[in-house]
Amino acid sequence: RSKRRGRGQITVYSKEIAQEMKRATQLEQALRNAIISNAIDVHFQPIVSLANNLIVGFEALARWNDADLGFVSPAVFVPLAEERGFIDALSETLLRKAAEAALSWPRELFLSFNLSSAQLMDPGTSSSILAILGRVGLDPHRLELEITETAVMSSADTAHRIIADLRAAGVRISLDDFGTGQSSLGRLRDFIFDKVKIDRAFVSRINSDRASEHIIKAILAMCEGLDLQVVAEGIEDHAEAAALRSLGCAMGQGYYYGKPADSVATLRYLHENHYELGGERENA
Ligand code: C2E
Ligand code: MG
Ligand code: MG
Ligand code: MG
Repeated sequence: RSKRRGRGQITVYSKEIAQEMKRATQLEQALRNAIISNAIDVHFQPIVSLANNLIVGFEALARWNDADLGFVSPAVFVPLAEERGFIDALSETLLRKAAEAALSWPRELFLSFNLSSAQLMDPGTSSSILAILGRVGLDPHRLELEITETAVMSSADTAHRIIADLRAAGVRISLDDFGTGQSSLGRLRDFIFDKVKIDRAFVSRINSDRASEHIIKAILAMCEGLDLQVVAEGIEDHAEAAALRSLGCAMGQGYYYGKPADSVATLRYLHENHYELGGERENA
């Protein structure tokens, strides 16, 4: 009897595994097709100066809406693309689309683009990025690359060389999600970063948790001493924005200022706010 129940359990279990594997294969196949058919899009979220609420740049965020699978988060498909060796193809397409969009923005606005850890292990990454900028015609000084601490540590020598080559060409480097993961303050001593992005985990608690407020204060003081720019991520309301501004944080990003939007909506917004931005359109 117990044996029969055991067998039943085994059957159910393996059916679940089979379904899981089927879904994983489906997802991988769909991702492969989406990359080949250029179906993965890039959206843009504003980064603002907290002092005057003016946009200073945009972060490019990958968006995939599959006909069968629906919306798939980049937190799911970016790691899958890395694992399956598609990340170079995906990232090159996204950077090209993002850089092309940035050409239509006021020229003082920067484009911030996320690099994955696998790309920091590949010595060809710097020349591939600079080649894309050259083909599109975007000045490397307008590009920032967001990387995480884990990414730099995973392949330190290669990563450092890639970063040095890109910075020599004028590209700036941001440390993304600062304060989470395998944070190491020692990383900042390497002087390979231009900017630090304070993770939303601290920002969302700035008004409810004294510890988070103190951590943000400490990050701001440290970054000032190290001559690093600072962006607070994930600002969702006025109170968070006000608290960060009063602590002296220079830049912010989050739903309060704007959700990621496609290139057409982004351009329309910039156009409608032309005077506020005070920028001159390159192609106007
Ligand atoms: P990230 O680089 O830290 O991007 C910030 C994430 O926070 C984005 O999620 C953004 O939509 C979300 N966000 C922004 N403001 C708010 C807010 O006020 N509240 C909340 N709750 N969330 C906010 P998203 O677009 O889902 O991206 C998730 C992660 O996927 C990114 O984290 C990044 O690590 C990765 N990713 C996205 N696009 C790319 C890409 O083109 N290449 C690579 N390598 N990674 C990407
Ligand atoms: Mg980012
Ligand atoms: Mg982040
Ligand atoms: Mg993140």
